[in-house]
Amino acid sequence: MVTQVEQAANAFPSWRSIPAPRRGEILFRFAELLKSQKEELAALITVEMGKLPLEAGGEVQEAIDMAYYMAGEGRRSFGQTVPSELPDKFAMSLREPVGVVAMITPWNFPVAVPSWKLLPALVLGNTVVWKPSPRTPQCAARLVELLTEAGLPAGVVNVVNGGSEVGEALVRAPQVRLVTFTGSNAVGRRVAVACAELGKRCALELGGKNAIIVLDDADLDLAVDGIVWSAFGTGGQRCTSCSRVIVHQAVRAKLTEMLVARVKQLQIGPLIDAAATQRCEEFVREAVAAGARRLTTGPTLLDNVTPAMRVAQEEIFGPVCVIIEVGSPEEAARVNNDVPYGLSSSIYTRDVNRAFVALRELTTGIVYVNAGTTGSEVQLPFGGTRGTGNGAREAGQAALDTFSEWKTVYVDYSGRLQRAQIDTSPA
Ligand code: NAD
Repeated sequence: MVTQVEQAANAFPSWRSIPAPRRGEILFRFAELLKSQKEELAALITVEMGKLPLEAGGEVQEAIDMAYYMAGEGRRSFGQTVPSELPDKFAMSLREPVGVVAMITPWNFPVAVPSWKLLPALVLGNTVVWKPSPRTPQCAARLVELLTEAGLPAGVVNVVNGGSEVGEALVRAPQVRLVTFTGSNAVGRRVAVACAELGKRCALELGGKNAIIVLDDADLDLAVDGIVWSAFGTGGQRCTSCSRVIVHQAVRAKLTEMLVARVKQLQIGPLIDAAATQRCEEFVREAVAAGARRLTTGPTLLDNVTPAMRVAQEEIFGPVCVIIEVGSPEEAARVNNDVPYGLSSSIYTRDVNRAFVALRELTTGIVYVNAGTTGSEVQLPFGGTRGTGNGAREAGQAALDTFSEWKTVYVDYSGRLQRAQIDTSPA
């Protein structure tokens, strides 16, 4: 681990001095390589973590999209030029790399999540030490091979394999200036504490308890499609998976009947391990003991669930989705917001006024109208409120803030001392 961090620190001066458009061109070539290797890489994802081939292909596509998008930032990464309050003075801001970035990533998106971190970090001139999940080392190795093939100089991205001990040591390595972490809340909090102690920057993307709201005027067929895909795609093992359906009482019975019919037909891929299956079963057992009703097995729907039950509050990270009945759009928004997480939420309604009220009232980082809770696009910020993170965002322009420092520059060409806030003449 020490070696990889040193390599990243040594590579930093020369990588940051390569003009950003040239760095962007390496990312562009990486995008082209990813495109040509899409099927092979998707197959590797399926082998390592069990995602179905169609979904694995979608994941690789997300990395391709991100690579093209961030390649373009090589010629943008805009700063600001603003008027100075003094004559003969020029004022602007520039983005600077942070330095050595430590990346710690989970197993459930072994290609897409790392690409959200790697590509903005690289185009901005940072070097990287990456600790992937010990469950998906081959995906990591392959991504780095492709980056090298695309022309990335040696030492700019360095992989270090291992579990929690290696992760902790990496966070603490003195040369690491920024830690970008995606994973569970329990680990994320530890990383945040360590970073706070050491005065390091830290960007966290943690769990979710995402909900789909179905109002009484919703297109129920559309809502069922969205719920099934969001709740049970990738076996519910996405940070944006829907694990709560919040439904208006007028359509609860109909929606539940339609959902049960669909879910009974559904076949899903495997969960990551036996412990994950057990965890789901425990949640379900406890909920049933507390009064919930199990409607399906395998992919599991529960109704008679109240918002305060553990099954309706905690991230399960498996194919378990609860149905909660509400009496109004206002109550739906309250139930949606009243969980420790704030990643993604969705509302199905045909009423544009209700949709806009929901956009205002739902306090998650991502809100969908008439679509499920998953499926973000790379050109917009990704991240959540409350326990889902610490305010940092990935993707879109917001990612540039996560992986750069602002440098503010004043050039005084008056040839005399000008004192800001003192030598300004009154209007
Ligand atoms: P995890 O927290 O167990 O592990 C994540 C990473 O942290 C792994 O690389 C792991 O080895 C490492 N790690 C473990 N202990 C550590 C420590 N003490 N110090 C430093 N690193 C340590 O998470 P997981 O099971 O791999 O992934 C599932 C979780 O990730 C879920 O909670 C899911 O919601 C979350 N997730 C969030 C997003 C998002 O963008 N919000 C995206 C994907 C997954």
